[in-house]
Amino acid sequence: MKQIILDIPFDSMTMEEAVDTADRLIRRGEGGYIVTANTEIVLAARKNKPYLDAVCSADLVIADGIGVIYAGRILNKRLPERVTGADLVPRLLALLARRSGSVFLYGAKPGVADRAGGNLERTYPGLRIAGTENGYIKDESELLEMIQREKPDLLLLGLGVPRQEFWMEANKNKLSVVMIGVGGLIDVFAGNVKRAPDVFCRLGFEWLYRLIRQPWRFVRMCKLPWILILAVWERIVGTHS
Ligand code: UDP
Repeated sequence: MKQIILDIPFDSMTMEEAVDTADRLIRRGEGGYIVTANTEIVLAARKNKPYLDAVCSADLVIADGIGVIYAGRILNKRLPERVTGADLVPRLLALLARRSGSVFLYGAKPGVADRAGGNLERTYPGLRIAGTENGYIKDESELLEMIQREKPDLLLLGLGVPRQEFWMEANKNKLSVVMIGVGGLIDVFAGNVKRAPDVFCRLGFEWLYRLIRQPWRFVRMCKLPWILILAVWERIVGTHS
């Protein structure tokens, strides 16, 4: 079931259901893409119609952030729980490892995806790294050929918002691989950036942990409460059904 929250059609799912749905997409073998819609993505999509279209064309849109969950509550469109890309992706990698599946990593600074790939192979024995590429190359033609040739089961795109969602929309018909825009997750897999400890995540304070670890994100993060203001406004004015 879809719940439209601030123009974004979220799939109303638990983590388990999202894993099942994504895994079914992968096993179908026809490609498709998943948007891990956090507050930053919701706000960007409201300002940029082509970006909104790229988000809306996804096969699966998961609620990646506590701001989205609260916005849903304010608008009486409850989502069962937060389903982050950072939780979903490891679950999918574990499933792929069990059937000797493969993943391709595209994104982050030179050398990072390689290191992430090495770590993932060690963490998920059986998982094959079909290839890696940094997110700053100018010509993507060889990369696309390589992905077509290697036919990975999953392509993780760490190109940042909005580039990764535009990329998935633009290339979905050329590739028969399931793609997920993962933001900085390749850096996390490489060990460059630490994810918040569980207690922060469970309490919905992952943003606070990130702010402490990466204070230069302050300006970017100041925008985040805006999602709640928009939700309250929409609730009062009732611009959407
Ligand atoms: N990035 C990239 N190519 C670009 C712009 C960004 O590969 O043209 C990478 C960047 O190096 C980082 C990721 O995209 O690894 C974005 O990380 P960020 O922490 O901003 O993402 P978030 O997790 O906040 O969505």
